[in-house]
Amino acid sequence: SERTLVLLKPDAVRRGLVGEILSRYEAKGLSIEATWFGQIDAATSDAHYAEHVERDFYPPLRTFVTSGPMMALVLSGESAIDVVRLLNGATDGRVAAPGTIRGDLSLSNRENLVHGSDSPESATREIGLWFPDLV
Ligand code: ATP
Repeated sequence: SERTLVLLKPDAVRRGLVGEILSRYEAKGLSIEATWFGQIDAATSDAHYAEHVERDFYPPLRTFVTSGPMMALVLSGESAIDVVRLLNGATDGRVAAPGTIRGDLSLSNRENLVHGSDSPESATREIGLWFPDLV
């Protein structure tokens, strides 16, 4: 079994899609290990997106992810990292495959509802950032 860090971004909360998205992860067979709900500040955004802070798309992304409450989750299961990214779909909701969360529910490259860790190293780093009390 493997753990991954998932974010349901502020658009998911604003649009009332938290239940819909959680249902997809649960129906796939992933387990919810930990949850956090709240609004983050710019420093937490910068820490989470450390690899993107110098990118052109980052300032508006930071404005977006700090714009309202969101949910952070640790999900676990067989190949959880890759499975979550398959369920999430391509970054840009406009081209994400139908059947994926972004493909079915997002029409945006930025407001794309979800985040999932992209590697075991990222998952360890991100879980440590969002859930420092989790061993
Ligand atoms: P995530 O890491 O959130 O699961 P991802 O791995 O598909 O998504 P990244 O390339 O890591 O995408 O980008 C992180 C986030 O930055 C994206 O989820 C999206 O919200 C935003 N983003 C990425 N590229 C762009 C872009 N060209 N324009 C606007 N926003 C972008």
